[in-house]
Order: sequence, then structure tokens, then C-alpha cells
Amino acid sequence: MRTVYLDNNATTRPAPEVVEAMTPFFAERWGNPSSMHAFGGLVARDVTAAREAVAAFLGAERPEEIVFNGCATEGDNHALFGVAAAWGRPGTIITSRVEHPAVLGPCLRLRELGHTVVEIGVDGEGRFDMEAYAQALAAASGPTLVSVMWANNETGVLFPIREIAEMGKAAGATVHTDAVQAAGKVPLDVGSVPVDLLTIAGHKMHAPKGIGVLYIRRGTRIKPYVIGGHQERGRRGGTENVPYIVGMAKACELARRALEDGSEARMARLRDRLQAGLLATCPDSRVNGGGAPRVANTLNISFEFIEGESVLYHLSDRGICASSGSACAAGSLEPSHVIRAMGVPFTAVHGSIRFSLSRYTTDEEIDAVLEHCPQVVAEMRALSPFVKH
Ligand code: PLP
Repeated sequence: MRTVYLDNNATTRPAPEVVEAMTPFFAERWGNPSSMHAFGGLVARDVTAAREAVAAFLGAERPEEIVFNGCATEGDNHALFGVAAAWGRPGTIITSRVEHPAVLGPCLRLRELGHTVVEIGVDGEGRFDMEAYAQALAAASGPTLVSVMWANNETGVLFPIREIAEMGKAAGATVHTDAVQAAGKVPLDVGSVPVDLLTIAGHKMHAPKGIGVLYIRRGTRIKPYVIGGHQERGRRGGTENVPYIVGMAKACELARRALEDGSEARMARLRDRLQAGLLATCPDSRVNGGGAPRVANTLNISFEFIEGESVLYHLSDRGICASSGSACAAGSLEPSHVIRAMGVPFTAVHGSIRFSLSRYTTDEEIDAVLEHCPQVVAEMRALSPFVKH
């Protein structure tokens, strides 16, 4: 059975060019870039080139503003705990209710440590409440950190991050954005979007798992999070993961090219065809976040009266990979905090499915979903106690 992979917000296929770029760094050039000898020096040059490529991708002023790390969760933890540690006194963190747990988890811990955490809500389409944000900035006491995502992982909804950052900076706050789901889908330019800190992850943009980047604008007050050796200018201890750093740089280069060559428009066309097809063939379905600006690759759709997990299971049986925002915890199905924050009705909250495309997605894959998904939904509905038969 052929795999139809539409779960690219969970992880993406490493691009063949990325794998090719990484390969010599396992078999031949496996030195330590911190070594004094020439063999290490050779790979140090590759790390420098990779840093420059990532800096160019983000529009950073200097390569030294790029810190390589292990994953986006680490980047988010570094941003939040690192800034709060530099304060040395209680402050305020303003975030949103729909952040990834990689931000919400540290916020919970920072609250326990005595900081004030304010979570800004969203409307029914998943749009960030700018008015509540302005009020939170005005009311914030002590040093302030804003941490608001660029694009939502479940719905693809884009937040007006430039405006959010400008307002945060005008209020004297440090501003972080989790841009994991925006990277490669919209241009990221820290030259025009005045964030101080920005997180991205390799495996969401066709590099492998195990590599991430935290952009730290020059002059930002932040302590290290992984404390150890002097690597990354003392901002992230641990011997550099050279093959993955090189792979990350290649992925950035490819993403930059894809943003210029029409891949986005092609992906949007496929996503919109999928959305229109499912809405037409699955009664009582609704698109979550469809009325807001969204990245081109994401479709979050609720099929009322049925469990998203059952739909996923049956789609998986037919070779189709998608996901739901729910987490199966302790035997109970917890509905997604993102979909709940949007006030989606109870009958639809549990039936939300996320299809996320990549630049490798084909028309045939969309056809396969349009063939199988309506059948699965109809079968589930026939069994649903919530549907009048
Ligand atoms: N932030 C966002 C928006 C994400 O979508 C994810 C992963 O899904 C993460 C952070 C965490 O990424 P990782 O698991 O690679 O650390």
C-alpha cells in the first residue's frame, strides 16, 4: 500500500539534497570543530558557512546571532528560561493560549517560580486578540517577555507577528516568536520583524530531527539554557552536531528557493482543492481557522459527531497519514487546547483532523484523501451515537 503523507506539521521528509549534504560529515569529515588541529578546523569552516546560510535565511544581521541546538523545544525553553534568568527578579511573560506545549510548559514553570504569565486568547477563527494584548502590555509589571507564535501548528493560522513585535518593543518588552510552523512557508525576516528571539526546527522544514536554531538578536539579555562548554559562544554547551548543522543550512537554502519558485502557490492550490472537496463531500464539516490568514500547507477540519482518532485510525489503514490535535492521555481523549480556545462547538471539537502538506505533496495524494476520507467519515457517522439514524 502506498503511503500518502499529509502530516508535515508533525515532521517532514528530509530532502534528498539535505541528506546528500550531510553524508560526508559522517564518513569522512567527522572532526570536532573546536579542535585545534587542521582536521577539526576543516569542519569548523563548514559550521561557519552553515551559520551564515541560516543567518541569510532569517535575514539576521550577523551569523553570530544564530545558535544551533537540538530541537525547537530546546529553543523555546532557552528563550523563555534564558530571558527570565537574565532578569534575576520576577517579571511578566505575555503569551497566547494556543502556543505549542514547548512554550506553554516553560510558562507554567515560570509561573511556579514567581513570574506573572498572561495568556492572550483567540477568536473563533484562531485570530490573536490584539486588544487584550495591548492591555496586557500596558498592565505588565517588571521586566516583560512576549512569546507569541508566528503560525499555529494545528490550524496554520498566522499571527500578525510584525505588529505584535512592534507593540512589544515599543512597550520595552523582549520579544520571542516560535516560528517553527512558519519557516519555509512564509518569508522570515528579522530585519523587518523586530523580534529579539526566534525559534525554528530542522525537521519541520526537510532537515532531519535533532537540529534546531534559536536566533538571538545582538544585545538581547539572555542566559544560556544548556550550560556546559564554550560552544556557540558560550550560549549552548555541547559539541556541535556538525552533520545536522550542515543539513539545517541546506534545508534553509532549499526553503528560500521554494519560497521564490512558486512552491507555495502550488501547495495552496492543493490544500484549497482538498478543503473544497472535503467540505463538498462530508456534510456537517467545518474548517477551523479557515477565515483567518493561514500558511498554505495546513487544513484543520472538524467532522461533527465523530471522534477524530477513529477517522485517523481508519485513514491510516488506507495508507493516509494525518493527525488530530487531541492527545490520548490516561485513557481519556483530551480535545486540543487550540481548538477549544477557538470556542469550537463540543460536537466538532473531538472530530478535528489536521492535514498538512509539503512541497512534495502531489495531486494524486490529494485525490486519495478525497476518495477515502468521505467514505471513512460516512462509516463512522453510521456508528455514532450522536447522529440520529
Ligand atoms: N513549536 C511548534 C509550533 C511546533 O509545532 C513544535 C512541534 O510540533 C514544536 C515547537 C516542538 O518541536 P520539537 O518537538 O521538534 O522540539
